[in-house]
Amino acid sequence: MSRESRPSIVGPDTPSKPYPLFSPKTTVIAGFGRGSADLGIPTANIASESYKDILNAIASECGYDTGIYYGYTQVTPTQGEPKTEMVGTRKVEYNFGSKLRKGIDTDLVLPMVMSVGMNPFFKNKELSAEIHILHNFEEDFYGAEIQFVILGYIRPELDYVSKEALIEDINTDIKVALKSLERPEYKKYMKDEYFSK
Ligand code: ADP
Ligand code: MG
Repeated sequence: MSRESRPSIVGPDTPSKPYPLFSPKTTVIAGFGRGSADLGIPTANIASESYKDILNAIASECGYDTGIYYGYTQVTPTQGEPKTEMVGTRKVEYNFGSKLRKGIDTDLVLPMVMSVGMNPFFKNKELSAEIHILHNFEEDFYGAEIQFVILGYIRPELDYVSKEALIEDINTDIKVALKSLERPEYKKYMKDEYFSK
């Protein structure tokens, strides 16, 4: 798939089978810290039990499950004592979303792109899912609650020759997600009762 030829809107005008796929409420966990450090594109990693059913639904309908998806998400602070977790040599501060700004970062429904791929840590046996929220957060929110609805599929996972090519494709994914989600039959999920007001 050449980059120049990528369409700016993907998927039908109305989400169609297997979408919409709603996640259960789940938790933002630590990944390997690659998103921000290497790419400048942070991704909220989510616990595997929260997306197994969704991936099965996609796999049985479409015959694939890895790739890049788009939809909407909402982040909500939870109760929890602040804690520090070591992930390798990296320190991850869990603040459970206590630094999120009410009405700016929370209570809203935000567009997102989600990447589903093989987690190299598990030697290609375990899928992992990560969500890049199209919103400017000022603080991390490890331990916060997150829920999301997947409304469409953008592209398969690809092997990249360079980091620049990967970043360029992710930036295209973001534009495609935003344009695709602007359509009325997609936008209406922002107001769905699944999300909290
Ligand atoms: P990790 O490997 O631990 O997931 P990342 O570099 O991917 O590390 O950073 C992810 C963290 O950055 C998220 O858990 C979240 O707390 C924070 N974050 C800040 N802005 C965003 C955003 N726009 N989308 C997703 N996560 C974000
Ligand atoms: Mg991440």
